[in-house]
Amino acid sequence: VVYWMRMHDLRNNRAFSNACEQARRDEIPVIVLFVFSPQDYIAHDRGARKIDFTLRNLAILKKTLADMDIPLHTVTYVPRKKIPEKVLNLLGSLGCKRLYANIEYEVDELRRDIKLCELALPQRVQINLSHNKAIVEPGVIFAPSSGKPYAVYSPYKKQWLKIVNDKLEHYLEEAADPTANDPSVRESETFGPLFETEIPSSIPGFELDDADKTKMTEVWPAGESAAREILLRFLNTKARTSQLGPVNPLADGAEDAAKHNRVVKYGGDRDRADKDTTSRLSPYFSSGVISVREVFRTTMRLFDIKKIDVNSNAGVGTWFSEIIWRDFYTDVLASFPRVSMGRPFQEKFSAVVWENHQSPEESRGPASKDSDSEALSRWKQGKTGVPIVDAAMRCIKEMGWVHNRPRMIVAMYLTKHLMIDWRVGERYFMENLIDGDLASNDGGWQWSASTGVDPCPYFRIFNPHSQSTKTDPSGDFIRYWVPELSKVRGPDLHTPSTSIVDKLKYPRPIIEHKEARERAMRRFKNPGST
Ligand code: FAD
Repeated sequence: VVYWMRMHDLRNNRAFSNACEQARRDEIPVIVLFVFSPQDYIAHDRGARKIDFTLRNLAILKKTLADMDIPLHTVTYVPRKKIPEKVLNLLGSLGCKRLYANIEYEVDELRRDIKLCELALPQRVQINLSHNKAIVEPGVIFAPSSGKPYAVYSPYKKQWLKIVNDKLEHYLEEAADPTANDPSVRESETFGPLFETEIPSSIPGFELDDADKTKMTEVWPAGESAAREILLRFLNTKARTSQLGPVNPLADGAEDAAKHNRVVKYGGDRDRADKDTTSRLSPYFSSGVISVREVFRTTMRLFDIKKIDVNSNAGVGTWFSEIIWRDFYTDVLASFPRVSMGRPFQEKFSAVVWENHQSPEESRGPASKDSDSEALSRWKQGKTGVPIVDAAMRCIKEMGWVHNRPRMIVAMYLTKHLMIDWRVGERYFMENLIDGDLASNDGGWQWSASTGVDPCPYFRIFNPHSQSTKTDPSGDFIRYWVPELSKVRGPDLHTPSTSIVDKLKYPRPIIEHKEARERAMRRFKNPGST
């Protein structure tokens, strides 16, 4: 039995469990296969940091699986269109008749799997695909009146809560642990050599420089146990203040942990970028290093929640609401394929005039080699002259991650103040974020650009300066990431005057809020006008 592990499944999961279960029943070995597809990485704007994180996780998995006598075999296949054929050839050479994998909902991946199924049928190879990414899998929630999937979050969330509360036992179930192979697999002529494949330290074209690699390894340690530790630190303040070490709040006593957790403060603090307020689990969710269902289950047990009520389980309920956003965007991606094809969800905004328009095809093809406009380049470098935007953009550049509220601010600034196509920003995030995930990234960008499902209305244009005072009231976030302003205090930090910026050699703003707002309103009100 072969389990084809994909880039977002880097741990035990449903397909892997099912493959192990089948192998145990048939008394045959299970083999784990991972396919590197550089052409897909280019087409999908995978950044070097995300690839490096994948490789670091694979290296840990390789060892864990080897201890269970399960080989993790890696191959590189180009061109990407030939992957189904090549995988089936490999299966043929291993004498394998059953393949297990989790579904990836992006259009290219769905097409690949459909082709795989078509080619497998005449060869009598059985393909078993599982849902694994979300807590409530796509297709389960729909509007009862129309039978259609929701494109608005609130009713989706309402249904989500009803379904999960009604079948709590089911949603708390986790995939069974994988079972080990018989040790004789290592001696087998066919399977033994598969233990020898090494996990490369980089993929050509996606190399990280040494300094960035070291930094990423420190900031985002790989492996399921690191992810669990990050979760437990988030659920327990006492543990959170310590460095990454062997921290287990359950060992301190669950009651104690529940009293001293940080997640309870999440409801009030989650928009604060100047505090360490969120879980920082997104890189682990997006690569499947920790299962969202495990996180859900651990939290429910730790806080002894019998019924989820996003309004009364204190911060935990608010935190679950954010996780439901992740399920929602996954459902949207699966239900409306145009979302992964670079098209606006609200077709009426297709004609909005952007300063540098990208066609859907261009936005999903290889990145253009043309140089960026000055405004775009200043946005990317964090030199727009708007302190909160610059702090967030520099944070992304340095950490491969930034808090949600600054993501919203920089996305809104790019699309409404600079009137730069949201697809350009979406691509930049995918290339630079370690948690890059098409569903959530597209969802976030199209929300900010007012073109998406349940978007921010186009006339509600964030004033970045007042947003700044809300998300960074202490100013610590800006002062940390924009050292030019490290000595500035009070309101000047959020909206520095011309004399301050000139004195500190900080750039003047590209455009004033009022002027930008008027232009964006004009262009959105009458798509096609300039
Ligand atoms: P927490 O606040 O601890 O939330 C827990 C989890 O809930 C997150 O890890 C994430 O999986 C999910 N979540 C939280 N907020 C959202 C949200 N608004 N939408 C969807 N899921 C959410 N998230 C990604 O995982 N990958 C992306 O590529 C991505 N791109 C984004 C782009 C833009 C323009 C915006 C506005 C948001 C984007 N997000 C993305 C969503 C959100 O910003 C991150 O998930 C969050 O900041 C991660 O931090 P955390 O793990 O500490 O989150």
